[in-house]
Amino acid sequence: MNLLDYLPVVPDFPKPGIMFRDISPLLANAAAFKEATHQLAQISQDLEFTHLLGIESRGFIFGAALANELSKPLILARKPNKLPLDVHQESYGLEYGTDLLEMQKTILPTDAKVLLIDDVLATGGTLLASAKLVEKSGATVAGAITLLEISFLAGMQKLANQGVVAKSVLQ
Ligand code: 5GP
Repeated sequence: MNLLDYLPVVPDFPKPGIMFRDISPLLANAAAFKEATHQLAQISQDLEFTHLLGIESRGFIFGAALANELSKPLILARKPNKLPLDVHQESYGLEYGTDLLEMQKTILPTDAKVLLIDDVLATGGTLLASAKLVEKSGATVAGAITLLEISFLAGMQKLANQGVVAKSVLQ
C-alpha cells in the first residue's frame, strides 16, 4: 500500500499558492489509517521516549492512535484558550500565518522524555514551538515524528539545527 495515494494534494488551500496535503482520505480508509499508525510506530522505535505530545489538531489524531498502539501517555499542545489551568505559551510561524500553542504547566513530569507528533512537517515552526513548550516544563525532547515531511521546506534541517531529531514516514 502506498500511503501517498491517500494524501492527495489540494492546490491553493487554505490560501493561494499553498499545495495542501489532505489527510482526510487516509483517515477515511481503515487499512490506510492502520498502516500509517503502524509506520509511525516503526519510525519511533529507536527513539527513547516516555510520553507523546500531540499537536492540535491533526497531531491529536495520529498522537492518540500511536499512544494507544504503544501504551504511552498522550499530552496535548493546544491552540490558545482551550486548556484549563495554568499554561506555558509559545508563538510559532506557519507556512500560512502565525499562531500560539499552549501546554498545561504541570502535566509533564520533569523527567519525561517527550516525542512530538504531528501529521505534516512543513517549515518546522510548529514542532519547534512544541519543543520549546516541553523545555519550558523542564522535561526533555526525545524527538519529533510526522506522517509526511514536505522536504523542500527544509523543516527537518531547521529542527536539527535546534537539536531536535525529526523523522517522517513519507517525503
Ligand atoms: P510548519 O509549522 O512545519 O510550517 O507546518 C506544519 C503544521 O501545519 C502542522 O501542524 C500541519 O498540520 C500543518 N500543515 C502545513 N502544511 C500542511 C499540509 O500540506 N497538509 C496538512 N494536512 N497539514 C499541513
